[in-house]
Amino acid sequence: MALKKECPECKYRNSVSLRRCAGCGASLVSQGVVYWVDVWVGGRRIRERVGPSREAAAARELKLKQEKARAKVMGVREFAMSYRLEDLWPRYATWCKIHNRDFKGKKSRWVNRLKPFFGKKTLNQITRRLVETYRNRRLSEGARPASVNREVSLLRHMLRMAVEWGVPRPQSPGRPGKPAGGKRRPLAVPHGGGIRKA
Ligand SMILES: [Zn+2]
Repeated sequence: MALKKECPECKYRNSVSLRRCAGCGASLVSQGVVYWVDVWVGGRRIRERVGPSREAAAARELKLKQEKARAKVMGVREFAMSYRLEDLWPRYATWCKIHNRDFKGKKSRWVNRLKPFFGKKTLNQITRRLVETYRNRRLSEGARPASVNREVSLLRHMLRMAVEWGVPRPQSPGRPGKPAGGKRRPLAVPHGGGIRKA
């Protein structure tokens, strides 16, 4: 569990206590320092580039520590079953900002649409049927099909990134005895073809 300071010159990630970069000697008290969290949760190492705010990085570290405590108490499998979509959002948001992927639009879709409906759902609860329920509800509210498609695309992308990042994979209760994260299985969301075009 640690916070790291990324050197603005050489990008080396230093201990937060250092005032000069261990890699190149540049000052680490100047502007341009970027904070990282570097933690192990549920057997996975999580390294996240948070941003210029030490407070934000500390808050993120605290959240991960709480997840770690949960994982320890419950075991990895139960932890996976308890991983909510809203647990994924901070990491996804960071990724969008770093890669400049329309963060504002995604954030608005998340806050106003996806979070209220899916935020508290654990990843294994987000099934194709639930996504259809969401789609039908939005359309019945008068939302434009193109808007709903964008929202569902965002949801699918978040779940794809979760797989890429090795977020603990949920397991169906019908298949006991397999270690969490063992066999790779696709998330129960539409993979291609599931999206109706407007
Ligand atoms: Zn440096």
